[in-house]
Amino acid sequence: MSKHPSKNPVLRFAPSPNGRLHLGHAFSALVTWRAAEALGGTTLLRIEDIDLERCKPEFVDAIYTDLAWLGLDWPTPVMLQSERLDVYADAGNLLRDADLLYPCFCSRSQIAEAATETDPDGAPLYPGTCRHLDRGEQIERLERGDPVQFRLDSQAAMARAGMLTFSVVGPLITDRPQIRYAKPERWGDVVLQRKGTPTSYHLSVVVDDAAQAITHVTRGRDMEAATDLHVLLQMLLGLPTPIYNFHRLILDDAGKKLAKSKGSPSLASLREQGWTPADVRRALGL
Ligand code: GLU
Repeated sequence: MSKHPSKNPVLRFAPSPNGRLHLGHAFSALVTWRAAEALGGTTLLRIEDIDLERCKPEFVDAIYTDLAWLGLDWPTPVMLQSERLDVYADAGNLLRDADLLYPCFCSRSQIAEAATETDPDGAPLYPGTCRHLDRGEQIERLERGDPVQFRLDSQAAMARAGMLTFSVVGPLITDRPQIRYAKPERWGDVVLQRKGTPTSYHLSVVVDDAAQAITHVTRGRDMEAATDLHVLLQMLLGLPTPIYNFHRLILDDAGKKLAKSKGSPSLASLREQGWTPADVRRALGL
């Protein structure tokens, strides 16, 4: 496990501007700023907008408005992932040069049909179809311009990485960390470079946590399993592994995680109804 060279605690809040922030985001943000305060460190804001179709500039402005309303502040300039595609392409090239990525030409429906297992998020686990294409066919299909994405050869990657551990802290961030083993093999051969985009969430997040010298990552428990994959990528790319905290999730009345896609009430709508930042904190038990 790599130790972070910087002693100065740096945390980050990294929302995607594909909708308005809701109470789940507010909880994550407040927990992160509070953790930074407990550690005597700083929280950076990073806008995770690599999905150019779903992310919108007006949602970026709304993130600034909502966080400022909650009484939070952050150093500027803010890092925007959409401005860093060349940096992610370089990281992808490092993995390609190490023979750890392979081109995959499968469509979503082909994968759904061939998959026999699911990943920790419940999505079909890629059955490895294109891992076995010979070099000639790969080149022919790339030259022909077939839609392609690049996947991690997880078996080769695991063989390269060996045993992986990382440190996890509880809600009292300053407590002694627990050491945990990462099991990234549960994700199979994940896509690291998507059709038309030289990156994916998993690749960008590890590159940027390192670029911003993040020492502690606070994120929801729904991201716990994905962290195993991030620890593997950090090892393969020679990047440091931050300390992780997995906070509780804010659930709706039906016991489900709040989500933009499910129309969970936005902070803006609560504000319009007369909620104050103190009401938000109280509703979240903070
Ligand atoms: N952009 C991700 C989200 O909004 C960030 C999660 C993370 O890396 O901690 O869920």
